[in-house]
Amino acid sequence: MKAEIIAIGTELLMGETADTNSGWIATHMPELGIELQWVTTVGDDMPRLTEAIERAWRRSDFVVTMGGLGPTSDDMTRDAIAKVMNETLTLDGGLLKWLEETFQRRGQPMPIHNQQQAGIIPSAVSMPNPMGTAPGWWIQKDGKVLITLPGPPRELMEMWNSEVIERMRPLITGTIIRTRTFKTLGLGEASVDEMVKHLYGQDGVDLGCYAKPDGIYLRAIAKSTKEEVAISTLDNIDRDIRKVLGSYIWGTDEDRPEEQLGHLLRDRGLTLAVMESFTGGMIASAITDIPGSSEYFLGGVVSYSNEAKEYAGVDPAIIKAHGVVSEECAAAMAEAVRRNLGADCAISTTGIAGAEEIEGHPGGTAFIGIAHPGGSGVVKHQFPPRRGLVRNRAVTQALLELVQALQTK
Ligand code: AMP
Ligand code: MG
Repeated sequence: MKAEIIAIGTELLMGETADTNSGWIATHMPELGIELQWVTTVGDDMPRLTEAIERAWRRSDFVVTMGGLGPTSDDMTRDAIAKVMNETLTLDGGLLKWLEETFQRRGQPMPIHNQQQAGIIPSAVSMPNPMGTAPGWWIQKDGKVLITLPGPPRELMEMWNSEVIERMRPLITGTIIRTRTFKTLGLGEASVDEMVKHLYGQDGVDLGCYAKPDGIYLRAIAKSTKEEVAISTLDNIDRDIRKVLGSYIWGTDEDRPEEQLGHLLRDRGLTLAVMESFTGGMIASAITDIPGSSEYFLGGVVSYSNEAKEYAGVDPAIIKAHGVVSEECAAAMAEAVRRNLGADCAISTTGIAGAEEIEGHPGGTAFIGIAHPGGSGVVKHQFPPRRGLVRNRAVTQALLELVQALQTK
């Protein structure tokens, strides 16, 4: 089935607000078995908005509009849809009451302009928005569906998950799409592509390779009229992919290294501390992004300068003898923070995020120190010397080094 997104708002066309909503919805279409065919961005302009909606309604099975549901005069999605559907907007008593109560709960008087958010057309069913004041619409008409969602990303995601998916699922017929994304680290995009080249062009499955901050992803899309067939096609290509990419694959789909590490530490009752140089706290940030990380994460130190490393317990003699970008320094950092915080495990990073050469090492050189109850070690990596990339890849690599060390123990 064909789907289409219309992202609405002049701020999107001006480049002031990045359209993150379309990308987010796009990633959630394949799991429903829907093929997203078009994304249109249109400004707050009645003639162009109605033109976009009218065209989408003509050519797609599912149309999702996002934005333009606010109370201000530049929010005209409701009016535009009413026009395209040839229906009349009326104020809905129930919605109006809900809006008034929402404002009451917030302790604010309801501005008169917000009334229009209680407007609805006869063919639309309203979908509650627990995080905002703009209800969504679900319109099922002429064998098609139009879904209207508010622009603020948190509101849109919440409504998609709690209202839209369950309504869409029973309507999906025809080709089923199932996807699996293999997340790799340690290889360049071209190498991954080269290694799986022989798997391209098989019936019923498409492969695609792309770079992300935390590594190279390989995506398999299987299409079939039967779900079992799509899944077994994926399982087959999964085996073939693992044969060639094996140890480079660290996870699939929604897997995150910080989550994998968190599970392992929690299961084993181990604690963790970090000492970071060029990652500047990004490892600690990733770890603490996981709810419940306080159970195993004790804390860490961002020791950017030599003085900070020494202050945090690294023997100055080590830095003097081996340099700061060295295996010995990384090992001493991990050991110092583990000792000082009394942690079971530690991660450290020292290296060069930029392109410049330091102590005879080229830009992009990274030493990652790992210490855990089964031993300790340092791994050297050479990343493409681009600051953002080096830091992001090193964070993923560091977390995965400890995951691997704990798994093989
Ligand atoms: P609106 O429903 O048009 O009042 O949108 C409210 C706010 O949501 C806008 O001011 C933007 O900050 C945000 N927003 C709207 N559309 C998008 C989009 N496609 N992606 C990300 N944010 C958006
Ligand atoms: Mg707007």
